Amino acid sequence: MKVRREHHCTKNHRTGFAMARCVWGTRADIKGRGQYAVVHWLKIGWSSSYPDVYLFDDEVRARAKLRQMSDPFYCGGSCRNAGARHELIRFELGAK
Ligand SMILES: [Zn+2]
Ligand SMILES: [Zn+2]
Repeated sequence: MKVRREHHCTKNHRTGFAMARCVWGTRADIKGRGQYAVVHWLKIGWSSSYPDVYLFDDEVRARAKLRQMSDPFYCGGSCRNAGARHELIRFELGAK
């Protein structure tokens, strides 16, 4: 699993959601909450690809999601490189 500390500002984000917004910007489609992020990149129609992010506060559930997404049919054709570009990332969230 990747651990991600770097992001685009100097704030210490306290939620995975704020961190994900900072890392991937407003184009990201972010669901759920927590510090474990399962990410893949979608491209729908002629849109440029954008990150599709599921957040979990529990590593076991995050891994289960990642496994579910590794099914080649899960993402369909809209996912760039289905499976291979799915990532599980743990955010290092700032201390209060
Ligand atoms: Zn930031
Ligand atoms: Zn995918």
